[in-house]
Amino acid sequence: MQANQKAEKTFNYLESLFKEAKTELNFSTPFETLVAVILSAQCTDKRVNEVTAVLFKKYNTPKDFANLKQEELEKMIYSLGFYHNKAKNIIKMSNQILNDYNGELPKSSTELQKLAGVGRKTANVVSSIIFDENVMGVDTHIFRVLNRIGLTCQNTPEKTEKEFSKKYPNYLNHDAHYRLVLFGRYHCTARNPKCNECELCSICKFYKKGDKNVYR
Ligand code: SF4
Repeated sequence: MQANQKAEKTFNYLESLFKEAKTELNFSTPFETLVAVILSAQCTDKRVNEVTAVLFKKYNTPKDFANLKQEELEKMIYSLGFYHNKAKNIIKMSNQILNDYNGELPKSSTELQKLAGVGRKTANVVSSIIFDENVMGVDTHIFRVLNRIGLTCQNTPEKTEKEFSKKYPNYLNHDAHYRLVLFGRYHCTARNPKCNECELCSICKFYKKGDKNVYR
């Protein structure tokens, strides 16, 4: 099967599973989106939502966070893990937005990556959600799913993103992104993927070959 046909079959199937493709993180402004995505590193969206439900009621602008003491923010996000670095980066990034971007979130993944604590994946995810930029933020779920199915054949998220972007530009959108994340989170899980109920068995490299190299 041609790569494009394989991609079409995959994304048609994902659409049938997840009609309403949207992130499970809660936020109501572009800036809140960036903070929520930064907080979600190595943590579940559910936990992040519990924390931001309280946090964003008190603080939700670059100015609010720039004025916070690091220890204050650390206390509020302690339960999310990596709280020291997350707090430090959020305060630094808020100051950068105020000083370098007139208080507005920069409008491209490339610019977002200049902010503290914002790596390529985070920048792509935010830019895709907020600005509809045609980029793919490859997280651990997307990395696993794409390489298991065989849509890409890479050993790092960054290389996976590059190959995917080049081969499947039609799927560089947030619907495709969310569907891949949800599929990896609930179906094609790291341990015990639900292959027996998956309609991609016939095209899935991992399923067909039991290739341990793509069991990520
Ligand atoms: S067949 Fe299994 S490994 Fe392949 S995409 Fe489906 S759930 Fe994932």
